[in-house]
Amino acid sequence: MKNNLFDKIITVIRNLFKSEEDFIPLHEPRFWGNEKKYINNVIDSTFVSSVGEYVDKFESKMCEITGAKYAIATVNGTSAIHISLLAAGVKEGDEVLTQGLTFVATANAIKYCNADPVFIDVDERTLGLSPFALKKYLQQNIELRNNVPYNKISGKKVAAILPMHTFGHPCKIDEIVEIAQEYNISVVEDAAESLGSYYKGKHTGTFSEIAAFSFNGNKITTAGGGGCIITNDAKLAKWAKHITTTAKVPHAFEYNHDEIGYNYRMPNLNAALVYAQLEQLPKFLKSKRKLANEYIEKLSTEVTVFQEPEFSQSNYWLNTITFNDKQEKDEFLSFSNEQKVMTRPIWNLMWRMPMFADCLKDNQKVAVKLEERIVNIPSSVIE
Ligand SMILES: *Cc1c(COP(=O)(O)O)cnc(C)c1O
Repeated sequence: MKNNLFDKIITVIRNLFKSEEDFIPLHEPRFWGNEKKYINNVIDSTFVSSVGEYVDKFESKMCEITGAKYAIATVNGTSAIHISLLAAGVKEGDEVLTQGLTFVATANAIKYCNADPVFIDVDERTLGLSPFALKKYLQQNIELRNNVPYNKISGKKVAAILPMHTFGHPCKIDEIVEIAQEYNISVVEDAAESLGSYYKGKHTGTFSEIAAFSFNGNKITTAGGGGCIITNDAKLAKWAKHITTTAKVPHAFEYNHDEIGYNYRMPNLNAALVYAQLEQLPKFLKSKRKLANEYIEKLSTEVTVFQEPEFSQSNYWLNTITFNDKQEKDEFLSFSNEQKVMTRPIWNLMWRMPMFADCLKDNQKVAVKLEERIVNIPSSVIE
């Protein structure tokens, strides 16, 4: 019987991608717009590196898309999270609450600040940080001393909460921000996967003080490699631009730097590529929504297909199906990949990996349940 189910899923995928036998990747980029033209412009201008008109254009476009006042281009999404955390006030020895179910970059960025992640469970309906689990953890473990939140278990200050919008589906970010405010904790959104996703009509990343996006090759739009910080706070924006560009004090020719900065600049070449990609975002979003709806329509009777949560408009970056148990999921992963249809399990939960094994966490019940059952299926933009 199982093979019938697996065959049916593979047939639906192959029909949608109009491919009878070729390899179908999980998510490949589409360069259908002005990519070559803009990259040629950059080469002709000789400004291939970290100064150039496309960096500025990209930043303006990101403000236009997200509605944020300021956008700062970075070399990748991980560096954007790192700087966002620093901007939110995370310091050495602090703790940052995040989800156990995420990509490793989320937790790595916390460690780059010499802070420790604490892993909180996710919400089954959104796959992102659970406000319920967050509140429970805070109620049980956090005490306010002079209005500064400390974790009673570790004695450390909790400096930020870092929720992630998994596979582009907005988490319950308004509830998370409200809970964080009760405890006087900053929120930083890891919006790496959620460009083009809205919650209650507002773009993801605009609920927190500051947020990070990724433009890696597998994301909905790509710079080859690239990232972006957004914020409405002029001071944070100014500092983020400064610190990501080697903390150079502007001067016509002198090299003066006023603190230890980072070379987290996005090259103009990459900015040209992603600017051309952003021009196509509305088209990509339409195609991805259509694909997701086809999956939902054709597969929902056989298997659970993840649908955008309440109050959300998701970019449907990666489509997700949920099997009944771990064995069925494992069998499908083997079966589909053997058939040259690329599918992937969810990430290794953060605390399963050696560098995060000793970190504090809650019961992680939903994360473990999802880890056992979830599979991502091909989700590239279709013409
Ligand atoms: C892709 C991704 C990142 C990192 O982005 P890079 O551009 O690859 O550094 C961070 N967090 C999440 C959740 C991601 O999916």
